[in-house]
Amino acid sequence: MLSPVYNESVIAERVKEIASRMNADFGNEKDYVHVIVTLNGAFMFAADLIRQCKFPMMVHFVGASSYMGTEQQKDLRINADALPRSFGNKPVILIEDIVDSGRTIGKLRQMMVDRFASSIKVAALLRRQGGGGNADYYGFTVPPGLFVVGYGLDLDGRYRELRDIQALNTATMVTGEGSKLC
Ligand code: 5GP
Ligand code: MG
Repeated sequence: MLSPVYNESVIAERVKEIASRMNADFGNEKDYVHVIVTLNGAFMFAADLIRQCKFPMMVHFVGASSYMGTEQQKDLRINADALPRSFGNKPVILIEDIVDSGRTIGKLRQMMVDRFASSIKVAALLRRQGGGGNADYYGFTVPPGLFVVGYGLDLDGRYRELRDIQALNTATMVTGEGSKLC
């Protein structure tokens, strides 16, 4: 049902590369940078990434959810209760697990603009090939139709704890009701 896509050491290598690019871009910031982690999927990537960042930051969390099972829902819910009302004209970095259509990141970007971010960069572990969304820093590009889990990414709350990224074979996945998803 699960097949390996990116293993732990490959992920660690890419995270290190992203961190060094971010260090080059933000290393000269005089003040701190606001880092926004999108929950839940980005928690593991963010934990590894920010520990390698060598610039001062203030870390915030925002909730974003649009999936049930492997199906994207029309209704995109953002819980920004824990975010400051203003970023005080300071740079913002958004950390995402995967950018697909870019809808989530688009909505978050607008929120940061409305809350006075001086600039907005997106760091995503994954981006979907041909999905339409984009990230300034990303780890890997996944092909269309491949639903991935692990390293923080879930299927209805499961598989987040996996150290690798794995693909779910939805064609053979049997749901609780015994029906097949494809
Ligand atoms: P977007 O708004 O860019 O279309 O979708 C991004 C969100 O959809 C991600 O933050 C993630 O929560 C979810 N998503 C998209 N593709 C996948 C996938 O392959 N696996 C998992 N677990 N989540 C995905
Ligand atoms: Mg997400």
